Amino acid sequence: MAWFRREPTPLASGQQESRVPEGMWVKCGSCKEIIYRKEVVKNLSVCPKCAFHFRISARERLELLYDGAWEEFDRGLVSADPLQFRDTKPYARRLQEGREKTDSADAVLTTAGSMGGLPVVIAAMEYAFIGGSMGVVVGEKVTRAVERAAREWLPLVVVSCSGGARMMEGTLSLMQMAKISAALARLDDARLPFISLLTDPTTGGVTASFAMLGDLNVAEPGALIGFAGPRVIEQTIRQKLPPGFQRSEFLLQHGMLDMVVDRRELKRTLVRSLRLLL
Ligand SMILES: [Zn+2]
Repeated sequence: MAWFRREPTPLASGQQESRVPEGMWVKCGSCKEIIYRKEVVKNLSVCPKCAFHFRISARERLELLYDGAWEEFDRGLVSADPLQFRDTKPYARRLQEGREKTDSADAVLTTAGSMGGLPVVIAAMEYAFIGGSMGVVVGEKVTRAVERAAREWLPLVVVSCSGGARMMEGTLSLMQMAKISAALARLDDARLPFISLLTDPTTGGVTASFAMLGDLNVAEPGALIGFAGPRVIEQTIRQKLPPGFQRSEFLLQHGMLDMVVDRRELKRTLVRSLRLLL
């Protein structure tokens, strides 16, 4: 019966290139301007013409935020593939490819260093590693980062960039939402500030847990932020969604975010906010 058979054609992504493309010249997906690549990179991967924010890696994010070198924790934690899961390819191979692409064992880097002279713990998610999805390793690393902040009396910044929970680890990935949220509640009891930075995209179980639990929820301009994607919602409620739905500016207007901050102002803003909160 055709009802129970999966169509082999993959869904069209319909997405423009989010990272700065390779090559000497890049065409901005937003304003269609052709720009010298070096100029975009020097501008923190923000289009100098229209301020479109290209996606950056976790490492580039940390370079942008920290004053200098940082210390990384729990680099050796790797997923055990508890379900021996395979979809179009085995999960084990996806993990392997993620490791090769990002030089990291999973989709988050947890670190400590100095930002604007303030000692701080930063966890930055890596979208290039299986869509920044949150499995057991991401959950454990973020939880440990929260606990480190509490133990060492440091403020915490978590940079989200994620498609949500990692379905290849089934319900174990969903449990991470509760685990991280509980750790954040203890950080709150210790009266230490937590700033959540939401970047493009922040969706699914990450939005539904720690990304929305910041003392300040800050987003980059134009970032897609939501639980289910707009296409799924439109198909479910059979209504056209308003323009800009699930983008940072729309969420700010509707009280879901505290600030939308240009990447070039980001570090200064975070440091100022932390000084205020401390
Ligand atoms: Zn542009």
